[in-house]
Amino acid sequence: MTEPLVPAADAGAAPPKSTPEALPPPAAEAAPTAAPAERAGRNGSQPLLQIEHLKTYFPIFGGIFRRKVGDVYAVDDVSLEVKKGETLGLVGESGCGKTTLGRSVLRLTEPTAGRVVFDGIDVAGLKGDRLQKMRRRMQIVFQDPMSSLNPRMPISDIIGEGLLAQADKENGWAKRDLRDKRVGDSLESVGLRREYSRRYPHEFSGGQRQRIGIARALALQPDFIVCDEPVSALDVSIQSQVLNLLLDLREEFELTYLFIAHNLSVVEYVSDRVGVMYLGKLVEVADLAALAANRLHPYTRALFSAALPADPEAVQEEVILAGEVPSPLNPPPGCRFHTRCPEVMPRCSAVEPSLTEVRPGHRVACHLYGDGVH
Ligand code: SF4
Repeated sequence: MTEPLVPAADAGAAPPKSTPEALPPPAAEAAPTAAPAERAGRNGSQPLLQIEHLKTYFPIFGGIFRRKVGDVYAVDDVSLEVKKGETLGLVGESGCGKTTLGRSVLRLTEPTAGRVVFDGIDVAGLKGDRLQKMRRRMQIVFQDPMSSLNPRMPISDIIGEGLLAQADKENGWAKRDLRDKRVGDSLESVGLRREYSRRYPHEFSGGQRQRIGIARALALQPDFIVCDEPVSALDVSIQSQVLNLLLDLREEFELTYLFIAHNLSVVEYVSDRVGVMYLGKLVEVADLAALAANRLHPYTRALFSAALPADPEAVQEEVILAGEVPSPLNPPPGCRFHTRCPEVMPRCSAVEPSLTEVRPGHRVACHLYGDGVH
């Protein structure tokens, strides 16, 4: 479980400042991580999902006439790609915009600007039937399995609802018997019995309910699933079962995941690559092994130093952050992290760093590692 970041008053000495010349050894020389997912062969494949300069702002209205008085910059100019067959983990503190990013990709929340290209098709430009068909290929598993399942409906209807919406001549899901067969198949693929389809959500445990949430996503035979904190509402003893199930399903059905979590141990366990978000911005993205060996962005180092290591004997770098996370309603100018960064420089508050590739596949947005600016 990730522990809260420690306030500045308790801070020890700041870590040594990194420079472009003083970059740690490349990822290829890094020790392999203990994560069990088979990672070989994934990272060379083509992108299935490309997110380009995505912005999602939420307007704030105030005054007697309810005029717009500002925006919450939940996701601000994020560009990212997810390769076919991989799991991209997205981490960051609460409120950093990772869930909004996942929902914007699926258009459950409408983006303000930018492009989401899925398998060569711009999702933002789709409407009506074409959007409906695309939604079949892009599914989501929600954080809270109880609130995401309608308590008044049996499981057959909860899962069957999506099938009915996607019914056509080819799949025949308009017919009850074919729909029920598909519901039963999905339940079996997540380790539940077919006959459970007649039960209601309250008759299941938390872990079983999350399996039903996964079965609902799987029933539509998607290519891509946004897993939005899928285990954070579960008991610790159940979490590993659900994580292993997700990993098995990825192999069996050749799925691609965008895996959102605040628990770094969970992200390290399932991910091939990891993206780190801070206050609506993507600040670092790299292969898991590269990130484990060379955490470049000061925020990434602070985030990982606050997590409990898998090996209690392991020596961890201690990075202490000052202050609170600024409001996304009024984010700081320049680098958004400059108000808390232990390595802040004069230009950090004036010039926003761009996400720059410092090694193949390893991108970071920080003036310590290059001069790229917007
Ligand atoms: Fe810190 Fe941001 Fe400056 Fe990098 S660019 S040193 S993260 S304040």
